[in-house]
Amino acid sequence: MPELVFFSGTMDCGKSTLALQIEHNRSARGLQGMIFTRDDRAGEGKLSSRLGLVTDAVEVADDQDLYAYLVEHLSQGGRADYVIADEAQFLAPRQIDQLARVVDDLGIDVFAFGITTDFRSKLFPGSQRLVELADRVEVLQVEALCWCGARATHNARTIGGEMVVEGAQVVVGDVNQSEDIGYEVLCRRHHRRRTTAATARAGALSPDVLPIASA
Ligand SMILES: [Zn+2]
Repeated sequence: MPELVFFSGTMDCGKSTLALQIEHNRSARGLQGMIFTRDDRAGEGKLSSRLGLVTDAVEVADDQDLYAYLVEHLSQGGRADYVIADEAQFLAPRQIDQLARVVDDLGIDVFAFGITTDFRSKLFPGSQRLVELADRVEVLQVEALCWCGARATHNARTIGGEMVVEGAQVVVGDVNQSEDIGYEVLCRRHHRRRTTAATARAGALSPDVLPIASA
């Protein structure tokens, strides 16, 4: 049975690397995938990983119907043996519904990869819809670590190294040099205390920022 699978995790947990691995394994067996992405760090129409691998992808627009796109592609003689949707947290909920329809009506596996929660620890709408609709949710086992050594389960947005909890849900890092916006993964404790690596270094003697003994 074809499936909609949501591979979820924090930033830096290896999602895009796994997406590229799935792509590689299947194309090595002669299968041809349709790859969707949004706002990848390598730029429009790319799926890349921090390890330096990159492949071409279809850049999804806000109002794009992904089901209609697949139907059109297939009706023109194109192939799509499976679908990969990277940065799926940036997709609209209705686009996740369209991906579910690709599975159910076209009989194609869809592998979606996304960050579960935003910098305020709230679900991204696209990720919420995936949790609601996916046949399976896989929490990625490549675990990112907080600066304290604990498992990083939360994403923080930083400005000048300090964690912020207000602002637009989507601000892509690395492209906004004007405000020095960055992202950092933290354990829940340090996300709640808003203690980033930089502020931990600055206040190393404060009891609030003592490293958690690693388990
Ligand atoms: Zn921590």
